[in-house]
Amino acid sequence: MIPYGRQEVTQADIDAVTAVLRSDFLTQGPQVPRFEASVAGYCGVRHALAVNSATSALHIACLALGLGTGDWLWTTPITFVASANCARYCGAQVDFVDIDPRTFNISVDALRLKLEVAAGAGRLPKIVVPVHMAGQSCDMRAIHGLAQQYGFCIIEDASHAIGGRYLDEPVGSCRYSDITVFSFHPVKIITTAEGGMALTNDAALAHRMALLRSHGITRDASEMTQVPDGGWHYQQIELGFNYRMTELQAALGVSQMERLDAYVARRHALAHRYDQLLADLPVQAPYLADYGYSAFHLYIIRVGGAGGANRAKVFDSLRSQGIGVNVHYIPVHTQPYYARLGQQVGYHAASFPHANAYYAQAISLPLYATLSDAQQDEVAGALRKALA
Ligand SMILES: *Cc1c(COP(=O)(O)O)cnc(C)c1O
Repeated sequence: MIPYGRQEVTQADIDAVTAVLRSDFLTQGPQVPRFEASVAGYCGVRHALAVNSATSALHIACLALGLGTGDWLWTTPITFVASANCARYCGAQVDFVDIDPRTFNISVDALRLKLEVAAGAGRLPKIVVPVHMAGQSCDMRAIHGLAQQYGFCIIEDASHAIGGRYLDEPVGSCRYSDITVFSFHPVKIITTAEGGMALTNDAALAHRMALLRSHGITRDASEMTQVPDGGWHYQQIELGFNYRMTELQAALGVSQMERLDAYVARRHALAHRYDQLLADLPVQAPYLADYGYSAFHLYIIRVGGAGGANRAKVFDSLRSQGIGVNVHYIPVHTQPYYARLGQQVGYHAASFPHANAYYAQAISLPLYATLSDAQQDEVAGALRKALA
């Protein structure tokens, strides 16, 4: 089976992790700050906090921005459920904004319209989470403009997009957002097995997220409510979590960062090859906006037939031919948990027509840095057969 995505682990990665196993620190040592500095330097952002998953990063990002009961978080329905779940962890309500059918990202026009209505109803979101679908940045300058106008915070869910660029700056620079989140799950661009990171230029947000990552505990005397009674003293000043990344994961991350640019370049080369291999087939290739450089986490095609019947047939045929295609994503608002919430909040299955139409036609073809040209030819051949 050719999977839709997979990691590469080199001898250098193995050596880096093995060295940690022989060292004094398996957690809370020098590798996590090294990995944070590596990613922060790459992205041109002031602060980076490594955590045990992007899901954890989204959670502490929402808490640091003060999201709580009675607040609203808006995101796109075409994302992994974690982009919405972070609001629910904080007791906040979730609503969705339909996608742009070309980029599959949150639609700026739909967002503007929904904000106008919400402003009238006194129901504006506290946080909007744009997701850089398939590795292509959202139009962050436009979304940031709306944030200025309506006073919401922005968390970029860049789980697909490390190594990508927007308006000639790396995704993760946080020029147009409060916080950006990366995932290092093995199917993503680089991996730490499990792992994530939250980036920000705001020192206060970074500080709050650092506290929340590790139980809400401080060892800084200036933050304590009473004079420490000895050198061993620490205080828990908030309710935090254990969301720490291990030293093994961070060492793997540092080693993987060396190949980030090469990975994204290879993904582009493969995407370009798919464009050519599939040019004469009745499928729609990904659209690339001219404002950035995608990290190309996913190569998503749309196959004809609005009802989804044709897509299911093509999907099943590809799977039976040993091609591990996938669908990203089942619209979050249709998941039973969110469908139930929608009954209280006012959205329903048909509320986001572009997301639903996209879902009926989307298939993610295998794309990862070590996919060979020969394997890719096999995928294209199988797709040709599936469509015949
Ligand atoms: C993978 C992913 C996440 C969650 O990442 P984890 O590191 O597995 O927690 C969140 N959002 C999106 C868009 C993702 O693709």
